[in-house]
Amino acid sequence: MICLGIEGTAHTFGIGIANSRGKVLANVAKVFVPLKGGIHPREAAQFHAANARAALNDALKTAKIRLKSIDLVAFSAGPGLGPCLRTAATAARALAAWLNVPIVGVNHCIAHIEIGRLTTGADDPVTLYVSGGNTQVIAFDAGRYRVFGETLDIPVGNCLDVFAREVGLSHPGGPNVERLASEGKHYISLPYVVKGMDLSFSGLTTEAVRRYRAGEDLHDLCYSLQETAFAALVEVTERAVAHTEKKEVMLTGGVAANSRLREMLKLMAEEHGAKFYVPPREYCQDCGPMIAWTGLLAYKHGIRQKLEETIVRQRWRTDEVDIPWRR
Ligand code: AMP
Ligand code: MG
Repeated sequence: MICLGIEGTAHTFGIGIANSRGKVLANVAKVFVPLKGGIHPREAAQFHAANARAALNDALKTAKIRLKSIDLVAFSAGPGLGPCLRTAATAARALAAWLNVPIVGVNHCIAHIEIGRLTTGADDPVTLYVSGGNTQVIAFDAGRYRVFGETLDIPVGNCLDVFAREVGLSHPGGPNVERLASEGKHYISLPYVVKGMDLSFSGLTTEAVRRYRAGEDLHDLCYSLQETAFAALVEVTERAVAHTEKKEVMLTGGVAANSRLREMLKLMAEEHGAKFYVPPREYCQDCGPMIAWTGLLAYKHGIRQKLEETIVRQRWRTDEVDIPWRR
């Protein structure tokens, strides 16, 4: 069975083609880059609509298949930005209706975990999913992916991006902060906020910007921002590992590109006798194959949706989704 997956929750319009043996046949991504500031949902959605046809053609060409060979269409149904979700869903519905094949809506966060399990071989990890739009510590328990901890305000990728923007670094901020952090020498104390198992990054962002304006060294600030934010992420992940006694830790999402975060998390995993995994870069990012693969898992395990049931949900939570393929 061949599934075409459409990812469109935020900046990336991705088309992935995968088969039910877990082989990825195509991974095409068109990424919206705002000229200035953050992502405007409507502008991103217009970008997706304008690029949908080209992405689809590229994907079919890469996979060396014709549209007729598609047996299933999957799409990112949430969580994400409303206009982007609706654009991806509309493309998916049109395609499924025209091809007369089934359609399934997929949860974006769960798709990150499933493509991570597929590409790393991890079986049952505690996952730290960190991106520009999400920050969650997730582990499977009693039929669902449970959220053990999450941000109460902004995601950690957003914290890095906003800080970078405010101090004059280009977007995306994460890689620039990482580069400057490597030359930081002194730790500047910044707000470290862990509430129970949850996290908060907005006070940290504001204070880091304030310190910059007060004249602190930018290298030291980047270093301190990373150390503070990442230590909080590792603390919450560590407690999830200790509680669940799982023997695997996986890091995914755009922020997973960060070497310091990888280093810290790997160290923690090793202290708990757990193996540490990071999917290949193209599968840490938002991508079509993660939707295609999760769509296949869902469909093969009996999930069915009528066209009129394929609504999008901007705030669709990870722990609201039944996971029949892991029963
Ligand atoms: P995503 O939302 O999954 O597309 O990931 C994008 C986010 O990852 C943005 O917030 C980036 O700043 C962040 N990011 C990308 N590379 C790095 C890096 N090397 N270190 C930290 N954050 C990064
Ligand atoms: Mg994502």
